[in-house]
Parts: sequence; structure tokens; C-alpha cells
Amino acid sequence: MNELGYSIIAALFLLLLWLYVKNKQLQKNNLQLEQQLGTLKANAEQAEHANHFSTKQFLLLLNTFQDALLISDKNNIIQLANSKAVSLCSDREIKGKTVHEALLNDTIANVIHASSHTNEAQEEKCILYSSSFGNHHSESETSWHVYSAPLMEQKESSSEKETLYATIIRDTTIEHRANVARKDFVANASHELRTPLTIINGYLENLIEDNLIESPQIAKKFLGIIQKHSERLNRLVDEMLTISKLESGENFQMETNTFDLSVLAQEVVEQLNPMIEAQQASVDNHIPTNTILRGDAFYWQQILFNLIENALKQNPNPGTKVELASKQSEGSLLVQISDNGIGIPDADIPYIFDRFYRVQKHHSQNEIKGTGLGLSIVKRALAAQGATISVQSEPGIQTTFSITIAI
Ligand code: ADP
Repeated sequence: MNELGYSIIAALFLLLLWLYVKNKQLQKNNLQLEQQLGTLKANAEQAEHANHFSTKQFLLLLNTFQDALLISDKNNIIQLANSKAVSLCSDREIKGKTVHEALLNDTIANVIHASSHTNEAQEEKCILYSSSFGNHHSESETSWHVYSAPLMEQKESSSEKETLYATIIRDTTIEHRANVARKDFVANASHELRTPLTIINGYLENLIEDNLIESPQIAKKFLGIIQKHSERLNRLVDEMLTISKLESGENFQMETNTFDLSVLAQEVVEQLNPMIEAQQASVDNHIPTNTILRGDAFYWQQILFNLIENALKQNPNPGTKVELASKQSEGSLLVQISDNGIGIPDADIPYIFDRFYRVQKHHSQNEIKGTGLGLSIVKRALAAQGATISVQSEPGIQTTFSITIAI
């Protein structure tokens, strides 16, 4: 390994360190970077110690990076690329090609150009519609952080100098999607919160300004509406807090208790009894006693509550039948909640576990039924315990939510 190799390692080390500091809020990224930095440091120390580092070892080292790494010269010709960079270029031969030819992407190539043109570090965040460079097939966005900087001046002979440029291309799609989801959540949440607040304010204004308080009948009616909407506000806030807790990732930990699912289900049915009676519905719990589960009983209670309550509230007409059943097979338990109600149209099924999604047709103008958060809480609470949920619906005949959990 010559002096150039060592200097490249040192410069890459600095680049990675810079990226590390820059992205320290992105925990997952950091973990990978920390590992890469560790490997890089260990190898550099080992090489220094042994005073021997072959080019092959150097390339092997670069191939351990999860970021794409390119080294190009002042004419933007690629001199070196690690395996991640090659795979992002669809395994095309990119050594010896210009960065434009190799990457087939102007935004990224222009960052490298700008770095070689100004001889200064350049960076850019790019959004692409493909998961590799040069393709335009993907419908969903991918996000990339590109950082390019001059490495060093290498004296090839006493009169000639050559500057090389190192470029790191990091896939930041996961963080980008999390950001977009967070923004969507905030936008939806403020919209959902504003609706009941506006209604409450409107009725209060009427009561006060039009002096309707003098008429007990109207006042009672208005106060009833205000109460209904403030209950909805309460529920929205509670459910949003639950979702944000479930989505807090590493900071969130489920409790693990051992409990009998049939007993828990019976408690939920009793909680819902007033609604069952008011709607002249029936809920039959066929989950056999001694169906022992290990998980977070608090969330299981919420999961069953949301699913049974959904079956009831979507079908207020008398005669709704809800059934709970479970079946054990080797290593797994299947829990099913079925109803014979209105059902879910095929077109809505892919979205019903999304936050704030509601099937429009189910709601008449004056109803303020759900928040659209119930099923997304169910899905996240199950995922946090390693369980999955799916739904099958034949509108008007049978709608079944099926939970599968390893036991
Ligand atoms: P909501 O708070 O509106 O009930 P959910 O996330 O629990 O929100 O459910 C999303 C949508 O899925 C509901 O608005 C409803 O349209 C539909 N849905 C859920 N469960 C059922 C069911 N058992 N029968 C018919 N539609 C259902």
C-alpha cells in the first residue's frame, strides 16, 4: 500500500467522521457508521502497525461500507468505486467512466463536478424515483445524501500535482419516509383536532352571543353537541398519544405478562355491554378458556376493544352478530373477530390500517363515529409484539379480522 492509499484512508476517515457528526440525530445510520468507523480505524491501525496494507485489503475495506464510495480525478473520471457504488449503478463497469456516464444522474454527478470545479467540499440531498441510479421505475421516492470533497494533492512528480475527490452517497430513504410520515401525521392531526374545536366554538358563540342560554331546551341541545365533540377531542388526543408512544421505537417497551385471552376478551365484552344492548347486537366469545398468551395485556385489551367496538359501531342496526374465535396450531395462535355487518369494500382494504383512514361511505353527514386511528393502533400494538393482522370482507355477509401470533 503506497502513501496515496494511507492518505485516502485518512481523508475518508475524516469524511465519515464529518458525516457522523452531521447525522448524529439519525440513530440507525449512526450505528452503521460507528461500525464502519470502527472497522476503518482498526484496519488503519493494523496496517500502520504491520506497515503493510495491500490494495486488495484496501478495496475489501471499502467494500465493508454500507455507503457508496467513489474516488474520482479532476476530470471527474472514476478511479475507484466500492461494491455498494457498483451495485447502485446496476453492476455496470464504472471504473474509468465519467461520473455522469456512471451514475446516469445529473443531480448527484453535479455535486462531484462542483467539488472538482471549486476544489471545496459540496453536499446535496437528492430525491430519486428509483432505488438505484439510472433507473426510473420506482413509484416511491428514495432519498440520498451526497457529499463530495477534495482528498489531497498528490505529487506524481516534482512538477505535477493531482487532486482526487472522494464522494460518499448515503441512502437516507428510511429517515426521509419517517419525516414525510411525521409531517403527514401532524397535518392530519391538526385537521382532525380543528374540526371538533371549531364546532364547539361555534355552538358556544351561539349560546353566549345570541343569548340562547335563556332557552333551556336549546341550551341543553347545544351543550349535548358540545359534550359529544369534546369527547371526540378527548379520544383523538388519547389515540394520538398511544400512536406516538407505539412509534417511539427504541424508547418504547411493551410489558410482558402471562394472561388468559378468553378472560381478557370477556372483560372487553362486558365493557362494551351498554353498546351491545343499545344496538340489540350479540357478541359471542368462543375463545377457549386457558388460551394462555405472553404479551402486554394492556395493549391486548385495547386491540380487542378496538376490533369489537368497530364491528358494533359500523353496524348500528339491530341484529349485528360479532364472534370471537381462536385456533392453536403448532407454534402459532390464530385469533379471529368476525361480524355480519356492512363490511369493507375491496378498494378500501389496503388502506384501513393507515392513520386517519376511514371508509367514507360508512359515515353520514352528522355522524362523528371514529377517529380513523383505531386500526392503526391495533396494527402497531400487534407488530410491537411480533404479531400480524389481516382482514377479509364480504360486505353484508362476513368481515373477519385475523391475528396471527407465535406462541
Ligand atoms: P375508526 O376510528 O374510524 O373506527 P379505524 O382505524 O378503527 O378507525 O377503522 C378505519 C375504518 O375501517 C373505519 O372508519 C371503517 O370505515 C372501517 N372498518 C373497520 N372495522 C370495520 C368493520 N368491522 N366493519 C366495517 N368497516 C370497518
